[in-house]
Amino acid sequence: MSHLVKNYNRKKISFVKGKGSYLYTANGIKYLDFVQGIAVNCLGHAHPRLIETIKKQSKKLWHVSNAFQIPEGEKLAKKLCQKTFADSVMFQNSGAEATEAAIKVARRYFYSIGKPNKNRILSVKNSFHGRTIAAIFASGSKKMTEGFGPKVPGFDHFLFGDHKLLKKKITKYTAAIMVEPIMGEGGINVIPDFCLKELRKLCDKKKILLILDEVQCGISRTGDFFAFEQSKVKPDIVPIAKGIGGGFPIGAVLMNKKVAASMTPGTHGSTFGGNPLAMAVGNTVMDIVSTKKFLNNVKKFSKYFLLNLNNLKEKYPKIIKEIRGRGFLIGIQLYKDQSRFIKKLMDNKLLTIRAANQVIRILPPLNVKKKEIDQALKIINKVCAELK
Ligand SMILES: *Cc1c(COP(=O)(O)O)cnc(C)c1O
Repeated sequence: MSHLVKNYNRKKISFVKGKGSYLYTANGIKYLDFVQGIAVNCLGHAHPRLIETIKKQSKKLWHVSNAFQIPEGEKLAKKLCQKTFADSVMFQNSGAEATEAAIKVARRYFYSIGKPNKNRILSVKNSFHGRTIAAIFASGSKKMTEGFGPKVPGFDHFLFGDHKLLKKKITKYTAAIMVEPIMGEGGINVIPDFCLKELRKLCDKKKILLILDEVQCGISRTGDFFAFEQSKVKPDIVPIAKGIGGGFPIGAVLMNKKVAASMTPGTHGSTFGGNPLAMAVGNTVMDIVSTKKFLNNVKKFSKYFLLNLNNLKEKYPKIIKEIRGRGFLIGIQLYKDQSRFIKKLMDNKLLTIRAANQVIRILPPLNVKKKEIDQALKIINKVCAELK
């Protein structure tokens, strides 16, 4: 009998080791892992440089309190700011903590300029910003909030793509709009660049902040370091997590100096956030995934993958409704429920994961090899043919 709480519907399989794009069961069966811990292991399993980093740092220093200077964190924050819009970084341990901290920063900013009533956060209905009490109410999903009342006040919602409703929902109490540039759990809905631009303009006009949740779509997953970069928009606050630790739990909030100024000593903290062990790993991940060459490879191979997935859509027009996404944040939307398809992919040794709206999410490691993409395409083709 399992003594774990049954808050997950786990598949009846476990793994004993991983290497690159592959996972291995105890009896040596090999799976192509295109889940990668849900966009977490951006460099695949057991990357030699990450192993080396953790070995080295673990012999030196694991954890000290944020009461002291942490040079590894200074270094990672500097790298993140040099590569992005941000001026300052606040480290956390997870995505939900990062989105919550982002909300705190937005509220604290308006408090600090004498407008404490400007504190409401406007976000997309049925989006995903994590599972803490505030984050579930920010997501505005009935399924996630059911049984967890009372409702946390301060959150408003609009439907994805409903620009009229969005404008109507902005009031004098609104502090920020928070959206995922590409909805992950929600079914790989991409906000087009021109909409992100309009969103920025709208925020400027209404003098409110723009929070872009890059927890899933960020850290080079789309072929740019951040998914919003192609739009040239500059957000005010960006929570990140998943990929930045390459498998080690790290979260962070990136922000511009305007809002960072409000976060004075004592306003926020985290016992574990930004400890030397986490920061050492984050630095190595950042060094690898933020180079032009690495990003170009993500662009090149993901383009190849998407092109061929679209070919499969043409070949099986009654099964595949749409191929969505950007870079290696890919969704295959089916006409039918996706569970059976995912099960069949797994029977053929390809691991994928669901998202809302009958979408199968495909999240290869960012350093995936072409022949591994070909292997996945072959399996997807086979399952389509079987289900035809
Ligand atoms: C995964 C995710 C989160 C929550 O991250 P956790 O580490 O699970 O708390 C928040 N926002 C988005 C967009 C995510 O995909």
